[in-house]
Amino acid sequence: MSVLIVGSTALDSIKTPHGQYARLLGGSASYAAVAASFFGPVQLVGVVGTDFPRRYLALYRRHGIDLAGLQIQPGKTFHWSGEYEVNMDNRRTLATELGVFEGFQPELPPAYRDAQFVLLANIAPRLQAHVLDQVRRPQFVLADTMDLWLNTALDQLRALLRRVDALVLNEIEAQQLAGHTNLYEAAARIHRLGPRYVIVKKGQHGSVLSGPDGWFLAPAYPLRKVVDPTGAGDTFAGGLMGYLAHNSGPVERKLRRGIIAGTVLASFCCEGPGLSRTTQLRRAEISQRMRELERMTRF
Ligand code: AMP
Repeated sequence: MSVLIVGSTALDSIKTPHGQYARLLGGSASYAAVAASFFGPVQLVGVVGTDFPRRYLALYRRHGIDLAGLQIQPGKTFHWSGEYEVNMDNRRTLATELGVFEGFQPELPPAYRDAQFVLLANIAPRLQAHVLDQVRRPQFVLADTMDLWLNTALDQLRALLRRVDALVLNEIEAQQLAGHTNLYEAAARIHRLGPRYVIVKKGQHGSVLSGPDGWFLAPAYPLRKVVDPTGAGDTFAGGLMGYLAHNSGPVERKLRRGIIAGTVLASFCCEGPGLSRTTQLRRAEISQRMRELERMTRF
């Protein structure tokens, strides 16, 4: 069963205390799609310009990512640049050039419309909703978002939340959306906006799932060196959805393991610039880290 993923497909220029990287393959959908691809097929929806390097198209294909929903339009690919402070937690956006994203209308190829698992990775909520409108009867829809949309498109985001099963967001965003500083109270308030499941990411401190079966507290995989955390959140969401789509049984029974799969993929993502480490991964390395996390948390 394929996972349908819509989001940004970008070229990223990143500055970290360890180095500087120009025009890496980036975007929320790219990170999520590569992560999900370790579990099975992925259908990608996005847009790039004619400047998009062919080797990046080849990389998607190597990961078995279906590109029927990727538009190539005259103009420039979305370009994002950011800079990390020494602690690697604080990030500053230096520039966002929308390019072909400005007039993007995601259209689903007919073969995508029966998707059962849909990841609305971070893009404008209006576009996320437009994709959801075209999917017939999805089994499980996860939406991601960012502070930009809380500040500029809150009404559209709220309308979207009434239509999704799960929302993933970081701690500060959860506090802002709920209007409450306590993480657990914030999650409870977000349920009232629609999603049955709320996943709050806490960076190096892991994540918290709130759902009908109560709380699940997931640690992050302990990493001694972070090279570049760009895309870790998107990778987490992609890994989670890939795991859910390609393992049998009801979603509520596999959600915890899915979150651990996402956690582990995100840890690999942080170990190299852009997608460089993730694209080198072998399936066995993912299982190994999942087992390690299980051992570290069992008592
Ligand atoms: P994360 O580190 O998980 O926040 O994701 C970083 C990725 O988000 C980068 O690859 C960027 O290309 C992408 N990105 C940055 N700003 C935006 C935006 N406004 N809309 C969509 N994607 C974005």
